[in-house]
Amino acid sequence: MMPQVVIVGGGMVGLSLSLMLAKANIRVKLLEAIQYPDLSESELHHYHSSFDARNSALSRRSVEIYNKLGLWARLQEYATPIRQVHITEEGGFGKARLLAEQENVENFGQVIENAWLGRVLLSEVKKNNLIELIDGIEVTALTQNEKQVTVQAKRKQENIQIQSQLVVAADGRDSFCRQALGVDASVHDYEQVAIVTTVQTSKPHHHVGFERFSALGPLALLPLPGENRRSVVWPVKKGTEEQWLGSENDQKFLDALQHTYGGRAGKFEKTGKRFCYPLSQVLSHKQAIGRVVLMGNAAHTIHPVAGQGFNLCLRDADVLVRFLSNHLKTSEDIGDQELLKAYEQARLIDQQRVIKFCDTVVRGFSHQNPVLKFVRNTGLIAFDIIPGIKPIVATYAMGLKA
Ligand SMILES: Cc1cc2nc3c(=O)[nH]c(=O)nc-3n(C[C@H](O)[C@H](O)[C@H](O)COP(=O)(O)OP(=O)(O)OC[C@H]3O[C@@H](n4cnc5c(N)ncnc54)[C@H](O)[C@@H]3O)c2cc1C
Repeated sequence: MMPQVVIVGGGMVGLSLSLMLAKANIRVKLLEAIQYPDLSESELHHYHSSFDARNSALSRRSVEIYNKLGLWARLQEYATPIRQVHITEEGGFGKARLLAEQENVENFGQVIENAWLGRVLLSEVKKNNLIELIDGIEVTALTQNEKQVTVQAKRKQENIQIQSQLVVAADGRDSFCRQALGVDASVHDYEQVAIVTTVQTSKPHHHVGFERFSALGPLALLPLPGENRRSVVWPVKKGTEEQWLGSENDQKFLDALQHTYGGRAGKFEKTGKRFCYPLSQVLSHKQAIGRVVLMGNAAHTIHPVAGQGFNLCLRDADVLVRFLSNHLKTSEDIGDQELLKAYEQARLIDQQRVIKFCDTVVRGFSHQNPVLKFVRNTGLIAFDIIPGIKPIVATYAMGLKA
């Protein structure tokens, strides 16, 4: 039977979206270029390019989305809640704190290992009768007319053609589909590379997430399952990353963390392998193009400074599925262009708010000018003591205001 929706790209967004569509009784064909790893136990840390060594901070809204899909019970096994957020600047006097109990919530969200998230999503997709998953297939052309989209793809030596009323392109930051459709994107290179790893500290994390703005770059330390394990995301200046990589630099990296963080986490005892991610902002000029919708990093790739990128993508996916399933109650055309335009319009405010916030934080904290530093630290203090600000920020950070 013909799929109602073809999804190009089976990263965390493509896999999540396909499960949401199937839950709404919509038939999906999911095409992923890279072959997935085996799901046997020994393969847990054979990473796929999309669900790799990183950890993701999932907002409360994202947790709710996975809960609605019936997946949270399994995901929880490798997740841990964030109950406090502390923001400071190295060498500064300001400090801002968000406490879950003050905001009357049990937590602000959960940190989950991407490898586990991807593994659970993939195993659910493989079990689902409404989803046909093809991996090791690369989409090589995309054309459309008034009635349908035609996807051409290559798998080993075989050329495959698939037709559908609607295509969702979740094929990542350098989206082939976006380019094939002739859609421009604004690109800003932050000239930074995120160093990502897991560390062990002598003091337990007590479910506190830290963001510390340092001269080297904004360092995020998030709690992981296991009381003393923490996830590190440290964007540093492009070109300086080599000195932190490789096992020969383990101690140097631990010393740099210790120096930047001081004694709050106790001693930084052990570090895992470090991985690198070049950071840029890529914003597509259009997200609904005829019968094609761009989603995930293909639509908007943002700086990971506040851990918002994937959360935003999940909210997009949630709204798209709601639009499609409502539409199907009165129409048979799931790729109705007016409907897709309405979806694009409906997502603008949330997307622009998150994009602007992350970009402002990165740019605002990257200057070492003493006057700017003073203004920033005064801002952190103001944030900490002025009543009324925290609940607003907390609501947005939890993804509850879209
Ligand atoms: C260091 C770092 C930390 C982050 N931390 C957080 C966080 O804490 N919280 C948060 O919300 N977000 C976070 N993010 C953002 C998050 O990782 C991204 O939003 C998310 O990975 C986007 O997933 P995606 O599926 O859209 O893209 P991708 O992961 O790039 O997946 C795209 C998929 O499409 C496939 N593909 C590409 N071209 C084709 C083709 N022609 N044919 C078929 N398939 C194709 C690729 O193989 C790939 O599997 C972080 C990002 C970084 C860099």
